[in-house]
Amino acid sequence: MTSPAARTALDLTADLPMSALEDFYRDLHRHPELSFREHRTAAKLTERLTRAGYETAEGIGGTGVAGLLRNGDGPTVLLRADMDALPVQELTGLPYASETPGLMHACGHDLHVTWLAGAAEALAAGRDTWSGTLLIVGQPAEETGEGAEAMVADGLYDRFPRPDVLLGQHVAPGPVGRYAHVPGLILSATTDVDILVHGRGGHGSRPETTVDPVVTAAYIVTRLQTVVSREIAPREPAVLTVGRIEAGTAANIIPSTARISLNLRTQSEAVRDRMVAAISRIAEGECRAAGCPRDPEVTLGNSFPVTVNDAETDRRVAAVHREVFGADTVFDPGPAMGSEDFSRLAEGKLPYAFWFVTSTPPELWDAAPGADLLTRSESVPSNHSPHFAPDLSTVAPGVRTLVSGALAMLVSSGSATGSAAV
Ligand SMILES: [Zn+2]
Ligand SMILES: [Zn+2]
Repeated sequence: MTSPAARTALDLTADLPMSALEDFYRDLHRHPELSFREHRTAAKLTERLTRAGYETAEGIGGTGVAGLLRNGDGPTVLLRADMDALPVQELTGLPYASETPGLMHACGHDLHVTWLAGAAEALAAGRDTWSGTLLIVGQPAEETGEGAEAMVADGLYDRFPRPDVLLGQHVAPGPVGRYAHVPGLILSATTDVDILVHGRGGHGSRPETTVDPVVTAAYIVTRLQTVVSREIAPREPAVLTVGRIEAGTAANIIPSTARISLNLRTQSEAVRDRMVAAISRIAEGECRAAGCPRDPEVTLGNSFPVTVNDAETDRRVAAVHREVFGADTVFDPGPAMGSEDFSRLAEGKLPYAFWFVTSTPPELWDAAPGADLLTRSESVPSNHSPHFAPDLSTVAPGVRTLVSGALAMLVSSGSATGSAAV
């Protein structure tokens, strides 16, 4: 027994042009582009959307792409893929590995663009089966947390209709053919923080004439380790990682400044605010204790919001995925400490569902140690690894997840209209 949306999705994706889609994926993988420089990728996506009958625009929020297909009464559904690559030297050894040294699609955004293009084309070709409006979004600069905000700030929803519901998906480690759904908080918030310690430089042989910022920075790093362990409730997931510390030029020179860069992961804004306040207090306290001539400069860098699925929207998408792929293919991994800026397209109020499609090649997955899915997922190459290489067999399923998710919002089921939840 399948719903009209699941049946229609299977129909519309029965004859996907697989070799063309795989070629498209391999081409994107060979030509990665950094955040806000996705010119070639954006042009390729726009070309496909235009050919499929979408009204398109490029250059939204820098390099963003939007494609609109109005198809009668019904909700407006936004489907989103991010497009940027990472400054990683690819080590996969794939025949279609990156041709740009030091740059790689190590997070699978090339696969996301392929899925989005395939889904947009299938939905356009089958437009007599559904009713409503589709807004296809190719988003720049997800990795820096800036792209979604830039598109909204550049008037995405002035130039195109504001969606009633948004859908997005991400490739993840795990056996091919599983779909991770969480009916609430699925991804954490993250914030980068920079601390600049001002000391007083001088000769290494005369410490009494200086204020050593290296020693002060070392105390700050050590004391920061107590923020999570001593100031945050044990039930609140939180991570504080000092990823970079930088000072000095030579062994016998006491430098005048030291810089500390750290990253926070939290699952609520309140915990993040509390951690940022603790970091400022500790930095100022240690600098005062050392006699620094000036207070430290604490600045907030890139940040990502929490990603919290609308429970009803996610339930509908997970239900259609169970019908299309089989009941045992959908699982709930709980919230992850990773982050996304997808939710900024929802402007803090629109309902959305964001899910994961697992993609580890079978030979790697079968060799991975561990008894359960989550443990084994940790021992295969993950997103951002120079060895990350989604299996090509996930091209078709990722098109089907988007097509069926969209149709769950756009296909009328019996007497009810196909209107989006909420
Ligand atoms: Zn990433
Ligand atoms: Zn990513």
